[in-house]
Amino acid sequence: MNFTLYNSLTNQQESFTPIDKGVVKMYSCGPTVYDFAHIGNFRSFLFGDLMRRSLELGGYEVQHVMNITDVGHMVEGEDDKMLAAATRVKENKKSGRVPEGAIEDPNDPYQIADYYTNAFLEDSRKLGYKVAYEYPASVPKATDHIAGMIEMIELLIQRGHAYVSSDGVVYFSVESFPEYGKLSGNTMDKLQSGAGGRVSDVNQSMKKHPADFLLWKPDQKHIMKWDSPWGVGYPGWHIECSVMAKAVLGQDRIDIHTGGEDLIFPHHECEIAQSCGCSGESHFANYWVHARFLFVEGEKMSKSKGNFFTARDVFEGKVTGKPVHPAVLRFELIKSHYRSNMNFTTKGLTDSAATITKLIDFRAMLESKTGGKAADVDLSHPVLKEFSEALADDLNIAGALGVMHGWLKTDHSDAELSLAVWQKMNSVLSIAPINEGLAGVETASPGGGDDDEAETWRKAMVEARQNKDFATSDEMRDKLIEAGYDVQIGKTDVTIKKKLA
Ligand code: AMP
Ligand code: ZN
Repeated sequence: MNFTLYNSLTNQQESFTPIDKGVVKMYSCGPTVYDFAHIGNFRSFLFGDLMRRSLELGGYEVQHVMNITDVGHMVEGEDDKMLAAATRVKENKKSGRVPEGAIEDPNDPYQIADYYTNAFLEDSRKLGYKVAYEYPASVPKATDHIAGMIEMIELLIQRGHAYVSSDGVVYFSVESFPEYGKLSGNTMDKLQSGAGGRVSDVNQSMKKHPADFLLWKPDQKHIMKWDSPWGVGYPGWHIECSVMAKAVLGQDRIDIHTGGEDLIFPHHECEIAQSCGCSGESHFANYWVHARFLFVEGEKMSKSKGNFFTARDVFEGKVTGKPVHPAVLRFELIKSHYRSNMNFTTKGLTDSAATITKLIDFRAMLESKTGGKAADVDLSHPVLKEFSEALADDLNIAGALGVMHGWLKTDHSDAELSLAVWQKMNSVLSIAPINEGLAGVETASPGGGDDDEAETWRKAMVEARQNKDFATSDEMRDKLIEAGYDVQIGKTDVTIKKKLA
């Protein structure tokens, strides 16, 4: 399958060729685990997932790695950042997002990181983010790779790309790497002091160039610290991704690197300088692919505007007033093209819920006809050919969904074949976790069995209607509606269906 991707390195849509035939090595920058991931974060993560699944549909084996940044947030400043993290924990406890018993000591960065890592993995799995099922093998934590970071910094010093300043801090020297600025389009003289990373507590006057960025900061007093040749301290932010990409994917040069658009500079620019400075390769990743930001009802998401939502807020109904099935949120976050700013709206969620309900009902119809047996099908099937070719065209999801909607309206007398086509499409859309090698992992499947309590109310409603006890019937109906069910009253029966949003 011939893929094209928009490469931020060349600002062009390019034909995709992996280094090793048939195998794609892909790295995505992961979350900083000092709070719950928000829907903007998940937009960026799920675009990476859509890319991976589209490549897999196209026949590639994809080795996907995503890191957990459990150091960076503790090293921005000094105690004030810790204080900020602790305050966030307290806020989250107050709002009930973090239960009282969790994170016993909000001043312990390891407890904080541990709690939010688990929360992130839980949300990610609900949202069908495939790499999260491969934790820990494909989801490394920065704190587990400190030795590798020290090793890479030593190599960079040996190769003349890094230096120890007179106050003992280790910096990358941007002037030693003429390509610095190539990804972001920043030229050396445009670069401002402090632009080298999240760390602001370094003494700028000790740097050779204002854009030199931190690799290691000795600091005896710091709350997260490790021994190193430059004294006890902590690593800079960028070094972790250079180290973990190589350690887990096993190569100096990889195929694809993804992240949100805000990571282009400084983070990805610095990753390139470190990795290529160390390996001598001309490229760290051949294709750099970035997702544009998510907006909420047309505005930038921010806590002060009150339009800042975590994925859990959406699931739990804190955004729309009704619980939202994770499959609906997933669909909503992947259905617009990654290179356009996505606008998250309640209306969008409602539309996504309608589409998913339609797809799940359609699958149920096919399964009842076939007993769940699907035919063998591959991409030579004309509908799948069109569907996969749209995705191969720089992830043209609107095109792929158009093909799918058109197909739903066609003849489906060969139900086994249609079920097979449905399953292939779902391997990318992942609105229901089937046939994906994800067995053993608990994930809610929309359209699955209604819960026991609702069934009890439904039966009570049928019985009450037979006895002309309409007061009880109404009472049961109200309970069902309140629990999020659609209630259809027939002549002799009552049917209920859980609403997805
Ligand atoms: P962080 O946890 O801040 O390191 O961010 C994790 C990922 O989310 C990065 O790839 C960011 O680029 C991305 N990101 C942050 N905010 C947004 C947003 N509003 N829309 C889309 N992606 C975002
Ligand atoms: Zn990164």
